Amino acid sequence: MDILTPEKRSWNMSRIRGKDTKPELVVRSVLHSMGYRFRVSNKDFPGKPDILLPKHKIVIFVHGCFWHRHAGCKYAYFPKSNIEFWLNKFKANINRDQVVTREIMEKGWQQFVIWECETKDKDCVRRVLKDFFGDKKQHINK
Ligand SMILES: [Zn+2]
Repeated sequence: MDILTPEKRSWNMSRIRGKDTKPELVVRSVLHSMGYRFRVSNKDFPGKPDILLPKHKIVIFVHGCFWHRHAGCKYAYFPKSNIEFWLNKFKANINRDQVVTREIMEKGWQQFVIWECETKDKDCVRRVLKDFFGDKKQHINK
């Protein structure tokens, strides 16, 4: 009766797959090539960020556009069936993201989100990281 829609199935799969998904690997390899040192162990950190840069007090999340509702992104479409299920799911995800953001700020860390759609192009990842770290440096120097 309740046949899994493709979205539901891919959600189940994403839960099973867990760590070391491809977008995370892309971001890590770009960071590495830029000479940044980071760690990926996140057990006791709010929101379990994908990448941590303790020296800079920065955490990086690689967010799936669909699950975290990337505004204006074509991957953040709304499924046509099981509307109730998805509304609740998305609401819970967004609420959790907001709580996590607050917890990270209270710890005195900064968070940076890279969207999954941006990780399809390594140059794009390099650019957004460069912008982010560049802005930060200026900020610190002031
Ligand atoms: Zn996106």
